Amino acid sequence: MIRRTFLAALAFVAALPAAAFAEAPLKVVATTGMIADTARQIGGDQVEVKGLMGPGVDPHAYRQTRTDIVAMTRADLVLWHGLYLEAQMEDFFDDLGRKQTVVAVAEGVDKGKLRAHDDYADKYDPHVWMSPVLWRDVVIEVQDALTLARPEAAELFAANTQAFLAEIDALSAYGEQMLTAVPEDNRMLVTAHDAFGYFGAEYGYEVLGVQGISTQSEAGLNRIGELVDTLVNRQLKAVFVESSVSDRSMRALIEGAAAEGHEVGVGGELYSDAMGELGTYEGTYIGMLDHNITVIAGALGADVPQRGMNGNLSAGF
Ligand SMILES: [Zn+2]
Repeated sequence: MIRRTFLAALAFVAALPAAAFAEAPLKVVATTGMIADTARQIGGDQVEVKGLMGPGVDPHAYRQTRTDIVAMTRADLVLWHGLYLEAQMEDFFDDLGRKQTVVAVAEGVDKGKLRAHDDYADKYDPHVWMSPVLWRDVVIEVQDALTLARPEAAELFAANTQAFLAEIDALSAYGEQMLTAVPEDNRMLVTAHDAFGYFGAEYGYEVLGVQGISTQSEAGLNRIGELVDTLVNRQLKAVFVESSVSDRSMRALIEGAAAEGHEVGVGGELYSDAMGELGTYEGTYIGMLDHNITVIAGALGADVPQRGMNGNLSAGF
């Protein structure tokens, strides 16, 4: 009898951690929306994710606020992108990493797959979310970080990761199908800053940004002139604005081309470095890329489904 009570007590103690975890989700803070959504997809109800950079926020220029610092010091896990994307927060994360579990999830991508950075010899282009194939590697990094932080939920995280990767593969196939339906001469993407290098490499598009890989460099008048010439020579009909960058330089391009008698329009607004509103389809990683693929292919001459891959895009984008 005593023995049985003892065993029952032991079983109760052993069951405690699982019960405690079920009640308290892991507190995760992520810098960009793309990382935050990935952590939500994998973590399910085992995580409570706070994304620091909302719609329209430029990660190249972002600095942590006081509220962000409080959230990060209270978190169980902090996920940031790395690859010098959050250039203004590097020192902060170096410091935080001494007291907290901080993971730069894009640093896990095999360096052989990365593009060189135009402005810094020893750095890489950080915009890996633009390629569904590269983002798969980041998904695995996020899975690993969550699993280390909560090993008890490893199976759930693994199952959610597989489901998310399947969605990413479907997105990748949709991208291939839509973007190769664009006439070959039109496969050129002109945007405000150079965020689409991986996208272009994956789908065979020439990509020209007014600004470089970071939004922190100035767009020179020479660069505008060069791009106007390209638009006119190639008779390109559309350029694209970005939700997280001013459209000023794109207007200069359109006016410049008009002055030379060539009419260029805005093909649409793309999500380059930030996603749409939280709680909307465009506020998810899949929705963000579905939007970009559909808008780009549609504006450059392919026949695209109005509401995107699964009919989830907002009407009239
Ligand atoms: Zn960028």
